Amino acid sequence: MLVAVGSLTVMGVALGGLLGIAARLLAVEENPLEEELKAMLPGSNCGQCGYVGCALAAAALAKGEAPVTVCPPGGRAVAETLAKKLGVTADLSAHEDKGPEYAFIEEDLCIGCTRCIKECTVDAIVGATKQMHVVINEACHGCAKCFKVCPTDAIKMCKVPLTLSTWHWAKPEVGQTLH
Ligand code: SF4
Ligand code: SF4
Repeated sequence: MLVAVGSLTVMGVALGGLLGIAARLLAVEENPLEEELKAMLPGSNCGQCGYVGCALAAAALAKGEAPVTVCPPGGRAVAETLAKKLGVTADLSAHEDKGPEYAFIEEDLCIGCTRCIKECTVDAIVGATKQMHVVINEACHGCAKCFKVCPTDAIKMCKVPLTLSTWHWAKPEVGQTLH
């Protein structure tokens, strides 16, 4: 009995030590700037920026490989915040600030080709081959990927209507003083 307990204790200590060494050797160094930039992005991982998720977009921003206008759904407010953090100046006068949108499928135009379902990374579209497709509004984050592939123009991007649950105070403008 004592021998079994002793050997298990030794094995436990040895494995714990090995795991500790492995954790140190294989540790991935985190870039604090990347983390800060990631926190400034919406976090919906919609892919409109061309990167697979907000984390990779933040990594590209930190390396100077992506412009501060990289995030379309973030609009001008996010672009300004990123520019301030990175200490760069950006001309945002032509930057379109569309606001949140969702996709809507016109049933008469849908031929059930399934192209939109394959594009949607958040499973917000329901449908089957040669059947009408429909978007679940609550799941759609407005990336417009489905809109771009529909061969019959059945998909429209619509503005998210303001309701008590979607309305929020606008962020203060840069340099604005509060009275
Ligand atoms: S891509 Fe357009 S036509 Fe094809 S299933 Fe989707 S909505 Fe219908
Ligand atoms: S339904 Fe269309 S717009 Fe909405 S998340 Fe899916 S692909 Fe993007």
